[in-house]
Amino acid sequence: MEVRSNKQYNPQMHSAEHILNQTMLRIFNQGRSFSNHIEKKKSKCDYNFERNLTAEEILIINKKVNEVIQQNLPVKEEFLERDEALKHYKLSQLPEEAGDVIRIIKIGDYDACPCSGRHVSNTNEIGTFNIFSTDFNNGVLRIRFKLS
Ligand SMILES: [Zn+2]
Repeated sequence: MEVRSNKQYNPQMHSAEHILNQTMLRIFNQGRSFSNHIEKKKSKCDYNFERNLTAEEILIINKKVNEVIQQNLPVKEEFLERDEALKHYKLSQLPEEAGDVIRIIKIGDYDACPCSGRHVSNTNEIGTFNIFSTDFNNGVLRIRFKLS
């Protein structure tokens, strides 16, 4: 039986999502997105948050994500035993069938995150990242973005 997972994601968009999540984590320290919808034309990520972003914050996030992309960072996979992975990462977003060996995706030294999806092999394949809208409802910040 084929297991459905995020493997059908667009690799460019999905890799950009990793960088956005790490950037949000570094700036606000409120965790990675808990839900997302990744598509080739446009994507969205939802975060537990307390307000909408300001225009200035959006500029800062766009700038940082693009700085990371433009560093031409290698995207590499590493495998850890589940017990070891649990010491360093939240595994709640991984599907149950992920098993006892956990795959960690590393984007240079910028981000490391357990993931079973498909990624680019270098950030130079992603293109230019742009947040085109955000909104805030009931404790959820939604960020919508495109690549060009
Ligand atoms: Zn991933």
